[in-house]
Amino acid sequence: MKTKSIKKDQVHVITLGCSKNLVDSENLITQLEHNQFKVKHNPTTKPADIIVVNTCGFIDRAKQESIDTILEYAQLKNEGKIKKLYVTGCLSQRYRDNLMEEIVEVDDFFGTLEMPALLKRFNVDYKSELIGERQITTPSHFAYLKISEGCNRTCSFCAIPLMRGKHISQPIESLVEQAKHLAKVGVKEIILIAQELTYYGLDLYKKRALPELIDKLSEVEGIEWIRLHYAYPSKFPLEILDVIRTNTKVCNYLDIPLQHIADPVLSRMKRQITSIESRDLIKQIRDKVPDIALRTTMLVGFPGESEDDFDQLSRFIEEVRFDRLGVFQYSHEEDTSAFLFEDNVPADVKEQRASELMKIQEPISESLNQQKIGKDYKVLFDRKESGYFVDRKESGYFVGRTEFDSPEVDNEVLVPSKENYIRIGDFAQVTITDATAYDLYAKLSDQ
Ligand code: SF4
Repeated sequence: MKTKSIKKDQVHVITLGCSKNLVDSENLITQLEHNQFKVKHNPTTKPADIIVVNTCGFIDRAKQESIDTILEYAQLKNEGKIKKLYVTGCLSQRYRDNLMEEIVEVDDFFGTLEMPALLKRFNVDYKSELIGERQITTPSHFAYLKISEGCNRTCSFCAIPLMRGKHISQPIESLVEQAKHLAKVGVKEIILIAQELTYYGLDLYKKRALPELIDKLSEVEGIEWIRLHYAYPSKFPLEILDVIRTNTKVCNYLDIPLQHIADPVLSRMKRQITSIESRDLIKQIRDKVPDIALRTTMLVGFPGESEDDFDQLSRFIEEVRFDRLGVFQYSHEEDTSAFLFEDNVPADVKEQRASELMKIQEPISESLNQQKIGKDYKVLFDRKESGYFVDRKESGYFVGRTEFDSPEVDNEVLVPSKENYIRIGDFAQVTITDATAYDLYAKLSDQ
């Protein structure tokens, strides 16, 4: 269908879901801006004429948020406030036919790997070389680097392979080029992301190549921190730990979702790892990198999760004392292999188990943070915030993170902005003066 040439108009790109979706939106924005479209990302201003919603289709709550967002813009289109509405991303990939029938206001739906087709609607030809010039939407001193797409794992609860396809690693050369570009535009911290980080290279180089990739990225001038997210525990390549321990640019931080610890649940989840192997892996990680910060994610309410399974999980959290913990509630996702099980853990029990785990974690986080009081840390400052009241006087803070904290999900370090000046995006040495479960208060170390 030949589209009428579109006036170079304003475009708003709305991103929902995870950091991998954010990178896709950034690539789309880069392609459009390269063709003189004025694009805004997740703006709070009045809608542009053309809206692209990049959706998430992971679990119930995320799907609902995506549908609500599409409907919001469909309403604006009915009111004549926007001209074109396009939908892309995971929800669109997974439910395109249903959505096309139900939300007719949407001009077109695109899958997760269909950016060239979406760009055609703007009369733009996709240019792969622009990947190396990605415009970031995060604060200019840190950026996500998506090292691969898709996943070859078969975790029974997970719909991601249905939406993102098989694992495809990006070549090391291309990732190094991307990192050089990011460093040139001021990025100091790159956060490596994927559906399954530790699988990197097995498709392309027939070997696990994450250590090699990290070494190459750490040679990029200007990059000071490299952070690892979404490692997979089964057959975890221990050589990564040597890289974390020896390469000073690699943060002593690892995000490794374990999902559960009870063997009956792990096997029905098809996580390809046992309770004993999981415990052994955590021990090996801590033996090899003693002060590493470990972030994990647990999934509660999986079909058949018994009281005893949950007790095992609770005791495991108490014992292992993770530095950072995220908890999800099981979502019964059609077309996943777990969908064949009966979703027999009631919603209120899922809710209760999720909050019980976080209740166990909070004093652990607090005591681990308390141990940091009086110590010095290198902190990367993300923003300045005001509106805090200390002794009824309005005050503000410079907010940053240590190498043990990832943006948006982990602890923050707060340095009073009164009588201090810190340039956002700079590193500064601080001394921790106080701590709560999820925040650290600090002063500049030379004070
Ligand atoms: S490794 Fe992660 S993305 Fe892949 S199937 Fe398992 S949970 Fe899903």
